[in-house]
Amino acid sequence: MSFEKSLLLGGFLAVAAVLPAQAQQKACPNPNALGVSRVVEIDTTGGPGFGFQHYKSYDFLEPKEVVLTFDDGPQKFHTEAVLAALAEHCTKAIFFSIGKMALGFPEIVRKVVAEGHTVGTHTWSHQNLRKKKTEAEAVDEIERGISAVKRAAGSPISPFFRFPELADSPETLKHLQSRNIAMFSTDIDSFDFKFRNSEHTVKAVIDRLQKLGKGIVLMHDIQPSTAKAIPALLVALKQNGYKIVQMKAKGPVQSLPEFDTAIEANVKGLSAAGNERPVSSVVKTVTEGGQSKLGGEPPMEATGPAAALPSPSASADARADQSGDQRNRTWFWQK
Ligand SMILES: [Zn+2]
Repeated sequence: MSFEKSLLLGGFLAVAAVLPAQAQQKACPNPNALGVSRVVEIDTTGGPGFGFQHYKSYDFLEPKEVVLTFDDGPQKFHTEAVLAALAEHCTKAIFFSIGKMALGFPEIVRKVVAEGHTVGTHTWSHQNLRKKKTEAEAVDEIERGISAVKRAAGSPISPFFRFPELADSPETLKHLQSRNIAMFSTDIDSFDFKFRNSEHTVKAVIDRLQKLGKGIVLMHDIQPSTAKAIPALLVALKQNGYKIVQMKAKGPVQSLPEFDTAIEANVKGLSAAGNERPVSSVVKTVTEGGQSKLGGEPPMEATGPAAALPSPSASADARADQSGDQRNRTWFWQK
């Protein structure tokens, strides 16, 4: 039986309900913004598939409607540049994050969530699951990825999943269906990782959209050329009359306790809640080189309003620490 047929026979129902495309549009200061034309809510019961390259059951996009998706992140600078470009257009995307990457850059995953984007997962370490020797190994990659991205986000994430290299298998499809996780292929593969050229990425996406008329677009937020391409791509989409649809899940993904435990060794002191205050409001330099920084007062007495103000030097220290930390984290997944 083909994968597609097994999907169709799964008997699941995906409900794509139209939600009001809320505050982001009325608050958008950019008069030429793409915005979000509608938000669809996906009932992931039974593991529906989206993206006609592999899964053809749910044709929910209207002509000229586009879903933007970004794989393989988060990555310092590049994901942030993509976020900035999306924010400039008050528009939203789905980020399929890798578990290892997410634990390396939890602050970026949290930013993606805070800015209202949809977060799905893309395995623990980006391995081709079709090449795994056993089903247990493939499941481990999927589930570790979910536990890690959820842990990094510090808040619920969506039961949305994309296979590395889009390589599904009967076993992994069955697993995702049993876990009520929607799987994503693509309609428009930008091949941005291959050409690594921002002009080419914009042209490839627009040309393909002109042919198909609509679709789910696959890009990679870890690619510098893609990060560079997004501002121009968003302008081109607007100019050509395309509208952005945001896909959200009806409910969050439930991670499995055994994998939540398994990834703890990789967490390294990250708080679970995702609601910690900025470093500068918690840690403040009160003496430096033996000199008090509080106008001669002993540090222990610094409990008034001045003590609550963030210290510029503490922020600078925090930034320096982060960039040092950043160097230590570059071993995480690189395509
Ligand atoms: Zn990937």
